[in-house]
Amino acid sequence: MATIQTVTGPIDAGELGTTLIHEHLRTRDEAVHLQWPGLPTSGGIPEREIEPGGDYDAAVEAASAAVELGVRSICDPTAMFLGRDVEFMRRVSEHTGLQVVPCTGIYTYDHLPTFFISRTPDQIADLFVRDLEQSIQETPIKAAFIKCAADEPGITENVDKVHRAAARASLRTGAPIMAHSRPASGTGPKQVETFLEEGVDPRKVQIAHTGDSADLDYIERLLETGVYVGLDRYGLEMFLPYEERHRTTLALLERGYAERMFLSADSCATIDWFPYDVVEQMLAAGMAKDWDIRIVHQRVIPDLREGGMTEAQERTMLVENPVRWLTG
Ligand SMILES: [Zn+2]
Repeated sequence: MATIQTVTGPIDAGELGTTLIHEHLRTRDEAVHLQWPGLPTSGGIPEREIEPGGDYDAAVEAASAAVELGVRSICDPTAMFLGRDVEFMRRVSEHTGLQVVPCTGIYTYDHLPTFFISRTPDQIADLFVRDLEQSIQETPIKAAFIKCAADEPGITENVDKVHRAAARASLRTGAPIMAHSRPASGTGPKQVETFLEEGVDPRKVQIAHTGDSADLDYIERLLETGVYVGLDRYGLEMFLPYEERHRTTLALLERGYAERMFLSADSCATIDWFPYDVVEQMLAAGMAKDWDIRIVHQRVIPDLREGGMTEAQERTMLVENPVRWLTG
């Protein structure tokens, strides 16, 4: 049987179980925390400021809550620039029993350090391959998938380079790719085009955040290329309100796309992107609601079942698709 890399070692694909495809145990700027260690971070869930070191407790709390709801695994797409720290993930995983599938890759909307500006896509791919085949951060842990991103600036020269590096690392190792997208900027189809140009099998590609759009034509155009789509930001009202996400998911299920869809929340147990008072204002303004690792099991699944989602479709999206995407 195929194996899947987790932060506590490889597991049989059959052991993956119910999986949330896109959740973060901690999101922070690694450079800031290296240069100014001990800064507090704003809590994601629960909404509060987290004391230095409290990010571990928050991650354990989120992971435990997921386990209690029957989640066996998460894919944690915390890559470079989101503060990837696989030792932190391993400790949380061992503490809670939640299996955590780690990634390699670079999360940038444009900026790259000179180190990468001066290197070719193949040289960047070498680093991704090292994480996938040998070791992440000098640990015995290996990556299971490759992360890249395109957002409001679109496919800039730097973003294109990272996508081609991801594609080449995928071709060399067989690892799948998760690409952060921004439907409002129409990045998804362009990202797919780049992967196909590089020769990547679309069945290895997941276009994350496609669920930020309720435009069924846009989503179907992506699905027709053979890629997976992430309906993976439930609770982030600022990108698309819950009700619209719900209707879109049901419409896609009715059209027979269950085998290409993922449900998740893109939750962050802690995130340092905004100061705490700004987070409070954002929540007060309704930009996020129930944005939490628990939302898929507490709200989304019950609502979808009421809307007609079958047990088989639920299993396809939460158990079978993650295995198929991760193992090819
Ligand atoms: Zn994310």
